[in-house]
Amino acid sequence: MRVLVVEDNTTLASQLRAALTAAGFAVDSAADGEEGRFLGETEPYDAVVLDLGLPRVDGLSVLRHWRAARHAMPVLILTARGSWADKVEGLNAGADDYLAKPFAMAELVARLNALIRRAHGHAQPEIECGKLRIDTAAQNVTLEGAPVRLTAMEFRLLECLAHHLGQPVSKTRLTEHLYGQDFDRDSNTLEVIVGRLRRKLGEPLIETVRGQGYRLAPPA
Ligand code: CA
Repeated sequence: MRVLVVEDNTTLASQLRAALTAAGFAVDSAADGEEGRFLGETEPYDAVVLDLGLPRVDGLSVLRHWRAARHAMPVLILTARGSWADKVEGLNAGADDYLAKPFAMAELVARLNALIRRAHGHAQPEIECGKLRIDTAAQNVTLEGAPVRLTAMEFRLLECLAHHLGQPVSKTRLTEHLYGQDFDRDSNTLEVIVGRLRRKLGEPLIETVRGQGYRLAPPA
């Protein structure tokens, strides 16, 4: 899953990047509202963490702009502590959730995962496909109860397919959700990751759908 962090406080921004990267996300960052607004409308993010107090363009204006332009990705806003008016205004402007500063990184990660899950229509963090079980909250995968060790990239790809269980996901879409902006895509191509994932799962769970991409489906 790929997320955008719009936060001007450099310390907090790097803490967010570290925590989200450790949680398996591809992370892009923007340090002001203008850059954040641009990235949010040009790149397909699975979720956005948006600070409200930002230089150039404030967070609420950025959010209103995205929603007016029909960008529906889940947005979690960061508000100043005790500012209930910010929370109400933010939710009314189209935010899906909020956290007041200071907050625990674990809570932010849990809330983001829940937002992404709900955006894909899953109420539970576990997704099952035949003998395969993917826990999107704990980030682990088991096959017939035995743990499967995946790299962050492999997990991200499998999670993206699992969110669209039974439906093909195009290579373009997968690529967009797999890599952050500054990632060297050539060294870790989609086909290579799919190949590794298929070997590790050892079952024909990931199908190639000609002309449409890949699909995670239980064996017939
Ligand atoms: Ca700020």
